[in-house]
Amino acid sequence: MTRQRPPTLILSCEHATNDLPDRYRPLLAGCIDQLDTHKGYDPGALEFARLLAARLSSSLFAGSVSRLLVDLNRSLTNHRSPVIHHPRNDLPFALKEDILARYYLPYRRQVEEAIEDNLRKEKTVLHLSIHSFTPVLDGVQRTADVGFLYDPSRAKEKEFCRKWRAGLAARDAGWRLRRNYPYRGTSDGFVTALRKKFPGQCYLGIELEINQIYPLDRKTDWLRLQHQLLESFVEVL
Ligand SMILES: [Zn+2]
Repeated sequence: MTRQRPPTLILSCEHATNDLPDRYRPLLAGCIDQLDTHKGYDPGALEFARLLAARLSSSLFAGSVSRLLVDLNRSLTNHRSPVIHHPRNDLPFALKEDILARYYLPYRRQVEEAIEDNLRKEKTVLHLSIHSFTPVLDGVQRTADVGFLYDPSRAKEKEFCRKWRAGLAARDAGWRLRRNYPYRGTSDGFVTALRKKFPGQCYLGIELEINQIYPLDRKTDWLRLQHQLLESFVEVL
């Protein structure tokens, strides 16, 4: 029996870091204390992305500045600009353009080109965009440990997430696993933008969302969750 070749895997981590070059610190004077919170980066996301990349020898693209400066997961067409959307958005046009040119455009282009390059050689690319979410937002407790975000109208994404979720649940029925939570897979984001360029037959864009309570407060469970996420992911490939 012949087994289908697994799709080429591309990993990305848009909110990898809360690094902020000194020259931009004055621009964030009103919210510099948010750098160490979920508003500044996604705790744990880069750690898990690196684990996957190392185990699977995959390409990993990771952001190099805080999302407070520029949000790599937000489209230019979003009603809120990707550049410093909080607390003020009144930067000079040239400065905004400079930040986009330094960080945003090269990052988005690199990932897109990697997908295009692979699609010249391979039939299918699986792009996994790795994120984490705060356990409590605006006083409301989030009710999941892991969220699998995809476009329900894309059969391959839906099927991949169904199997991945089932594999993780089989390892530990205690994980709270949800689909398209805490955000819809079709809301604005990098994979949503890429779906407009690449058809569902050859591009699977999946966003993984992990509850930050694990990397921040529950180290033993965090290691177990990463291990089980990895195992169950490999099983579906
Ligand atoms: Zn994120």
